Amino acid sequence: MNESTANAFTALGLQELIASAATALGYEEPTAIQREAIPHLLDGRDVLGQAATGTGKTAAFALPLLQRISEPQTEGKRVRALILVPTRELAMQVAEAVHKYGRLLHVNVLPIYGGQSISVQLRALRRGVDVVVATPGRALDHIRRGTLALDSVEYLVLDEADEMLDMGFAEDLEAIAAALPRERQTALFSATLAPRVKAISKRYLREPVNVHIESERTAGGSKPRVREVAYLVQRPYKSTALARLLDMESPTSAIVFCRTRTEVDELTETLGARGYQAEALHGGLSQEQRDRVLRRFREGTSDILVATDVAARGLDIEHVSHVFNYDVPSSIDAYVHRIGRTGRAGREGIAITLAEPREHRLVRNIEQQTKRKIRIETVPTITDLRERKLALVRAAVEDAIRDGDLDSYHTLVELLSIEHDIVDVAAAALRIADSGRDGEREEIEIPAAAEEKPGGKRRAPRVQRPSEDMAKIYIGLGRSSGIRPADIVGAIANEAGISSKQIGAIDIADRFSLIEVPTDEITAIVKRLRNTTIRGKKIGARRDRRG
Ligand code: AMP
Repeated sequence: MNESTANAFTALGLQELIASAATALGYEEPTAIQREAIPHLLDGRDVLGQAATGTGKTAAFALPLLQRISEPQTEGKRVRALILVPTRELAMQVAEAVHKYGRLLHVNVLPIYGGQSISVQLRALRRGVDVVVATPGRALDHIRRGTLALDSVEYLVLDEADEMLDMGFAEDLEAIAAALPRERQTALFSATLAPRVKAISKRYLREPVNVHIESERTAGGSKPRVREVAYLVQRPYKSTALARLLDMESPTSAIVFCRTRTEVDELTETLGARGYQAEALHGGLSQEQRDRVLRRFREGTSDILVATDVAARGLDIEHVSHVFNYDVPSSIDAYVHRIGRTGRAGREGIAITLAEPREHRLVRNIEQQTKRKIRIETVPTITDLRERKLALVRAAVEDAIRDGDLDSYHTLVELLSIEHDIVDVAAAALRIADSGRDGEREEIEIPAAAEEKPGGKRRAPRVQRPSEDMAKIYIGLGRSSGIRPADIVGAIANEAGISSKQIGAIDIADRFSLIEVPTDEITAIVKRLRNTTIRGKKIGARRDRRG
């Protein structure tokens, strides 16, 4: 692990154990919201943070939370921190993040949300947890049943407060606050500071420090000519989408920015396996390795650099045709810096951002702050790709005809045309030439992902995975038991420990249901579901043999 990287986090006041959890995840330096919020939270101050998803705000509140609650505690296991979030999805994500950051501290984290079996939650609560991440409705259920005691909570986080209010949780928040000790630290994060958010921050925060990440405008001078586009893509399809865009755009030189080292390494490998000349550039490389990577890129031996922001800083590369943001950058500054690598010196540049549907707000935010249009487009389909490839073949053939010098092939064509139709001969020749260009790659259809409307229900969009990758689980509960898709997703994601995004179509019949899951995980999932109940009934999971 790189020492200077860990130092960037310890410099904010974080202990080694916590800082090293961040660097182990490949974070190279704190994001703006982390730099601004962490020192105050470690000081015990309340914080009102304006930050959207994708800015690193989870770590901004979770890292100090872990440090505060890892200090010596009173007798027994009691809930010491409560994080309230608007949706089930977010509860799972935030709990997972806190778990990862607190891995070395052995902190117990429990997500609590509606749709998940209450008995699972009760069992975990009885065993004792340090941090609860909950949606307000379900948290209140437990408080009323007397199964969630909050009198030891020292640290409260209201995450995506504006969304919680939009979803009508104001009263629930009020009731939860009444069950919390007055003496506590509170952090409230929200993408907007609408009057309603300000009002609840007045009620729940004490002399808060306001943290708002100011954006840096583009440096003056000639206007860069950059076409900015964002594609909404669900996470499992991101590398496929990137590959497709690389094929469509055929960049002469491109930088693909990722958030973490791990992501850089993984993506470089994936692209390499798909036949692209990509090289990784991150803070974990020695000077010698870095020089080699850059030399190969400049010489054109590789045409794609996959890099973290830190590694790309001060990069002596004049211009690239394309900048790809594999994730929405964590700040407007990062976005502006990244895309500043293209469209230089009066040349055309293209900046392409891949955003998950829940990050669309961050894209809009960047658009507003930079006052530049980012068009949201759908990822090209396999048909688009084929058309594009055929257009390229056609252009190449026309070039070859213009260049002439085909005499040596004329005889061959004449020979072949004695026995075959001349159009067939030409078509076969084109196919041979075409498959030699970049080999045969198996393409899968990428489902269109819609923007998620703020305030709307944010049920995870069902990912239609290609069906040959999926197999079906049969469970002996259906409509007649009052089961709903959310119950099934909750139980499977929670019990089998898989992401809800991996779950495919769910068919609920009267007396049974069928759930698609990845084929390579079905055996493990069925095994883990053997004793699971939904709504108090055993689900009797097994692999469906029919489909
Ligand atoms: P959030 O805004 O909390 O949803 O975080 C968005 C993403 O940024 C998550 O995938 C985090 O793992 C990642 N992230 C958080 N902090 C950092 C950091 N300092 N450097 C790189 N990635 C980060």
